[in-house]
This record gives sequence, C-alpha cells and structure tokens, in this order.
Amino acid sequence: MSRNGFVKRPLIGCTTFRQTLERPDYTISMVGLTPTYVRAIEKAGGIPILIPCGLPQDDIVQIFDLLDGVLLPGGGDIDPVIYGGQMHETVYGISPERDETELFLARHAVAEEKPLFAICRGVQVLNVALGGTLWEDVKLLMPNGTRHAYHGEFPRNHLAHTVDVDPNSQLSHFLGTGSVGINSLHHQGIKKLAPALVGTAVSPDGLIEAVEAPAHPFALGVQWHPENLVDDSPAMLALFEGLVEAAAVASQLQPV
Ligand code: MN
Repeated sequence: MSRNGFVKRPLIGCTTFRQTLERPDYTISMVGLTPTYVRAIEKAGGIPILIPCGLPQDDIVQIFDLLDGVLLPGGGDIDPVIYGGQMHETVYGISPERDETELFLARHAVAEEKPLFAICRGVQVLNVALGGTLWEDVKLLMPNGTRHAYHGEFPRNHLAHTVDVDPNSQLSHFLGTGSVGINSLHHQGIKKLAPALVGTAVSPDGLIEAVEAPAHPFALGVQWHPENLVDDSPAMLALFEGLVEAAAVASQLQPV
C-alpha cells in the first residue's frame, strides 16, 4: 500500500541542473538537484523522477507523458533577453539549456492540464513561460523593494518575512489565510504577472510571492522554498501533498 492512499504512487518529474566541481587535480561535471526537493516529494507520497535539461523537445514530451505531475525547482536566473529585460550586474547562473527545457515544460504542463508546482526560480519560469516579466533584482530595481536574499548567514528554513495570502486562492487551502511566515532565498521576482496567472500571496513590500492558474486543476507557484520547511510546518508539506494528490487524481490512479 502506498503512503498517500493510492495503489501506485504518483510520478513527479523534477528538472535538474549542471554543476561543475573544481578539485585540486581534476574537474568533475554533474547533473543533479538539491536533495531537499527529492525528499519533500517522497515525504508527500510521490516518487521523484529527475529530468535532465537539454534533451530534444520530443524526448522531453516522451518523459512528460509518463509523469503524473511536474515540479520546477529553484536555481539561477533566467536569461533576461527571454522576457525583454536588461542584463544586470546581480544576474547569475544563466543556463540556456535549463531555460529552454523548463519554459517548455511549464507551457506544456499548463496546456495539458498536468499538475505543476513551481518553486522560487520555478515560479519565475512559470510567469515568463506564460508571458510575464521579472524584476532583474527586487531590492535594487523594484520601487520600495526590500531585501529578499537571505542566503548564507541564515539557515534555509529561516523565516525572513511574511506574505499575505489571498483567502480566495487555492493556496489558502494549504496555508490558511492572512499573514504567513516564509523563508526568502531569491533576489529576483515577478514584475508583470502573466495574463493566465493570478497573484495569491504578497510580501510587505508589494512583491507577488505566489501565483496560480485559475483555469488549471493544480498549477501553483511560490517564490519561497517550502522544501526547506516541510519538517517545520505541516502547511508547507501540504503544498507537496497537494501536488501529489492532484497528480493522482489527474492520472486516475486507483485508491487503495
Ligand atoms: Mn521573499
């Protein structure tokens, strides 16, 4: 019996990134993912499937068709050229193969009504994929923008600021309404919201920190990192459980 009440556990595809490790006498290049995403999917009752970036589109579709849900994880910045933005000195970690793979997956998951959960860079990918734009740096470029990058000096589960959750949103089913404490490990954010999305949570400086596609059964994005909060907060784990449940329903997996 599966942990989430279905005979077969839903397959949740999660994109990955390339990393190069410089050792004293050799260099090693790897494809991978921070294990907190893998663990959060497992803890929520899904089976994580890691998707390499840079495959031909036909191959991505073949993988996509096997999946019950998709998770877009955090990472470096999207190339600003893609959303008509400007290069900025704080922009980092651009990966053309990752941009291409994730933008395609986001559009395809929305078009095919496959459950989709987008985290940090992922919510930015979802917004750009559907025609939105980004602040290349929230603190430096958004009017009244405050600090959102709490890397390094704080643990990743540090609750850096609050967001105000829209009571009419799907997000509020998981987080409740009103003010919710969240971690904040990003320097970019949503500028112009894509037409197919609605903003569902806003930080005190006015930045949209969560979105969803109301016409879709489950297409949610959050600017924070719930995968780092699943041990602290049942509500943050519930977001992953929501993805897994929606994936099971969408694929008509049989209940136990
Ligand atoms: Mn933030």
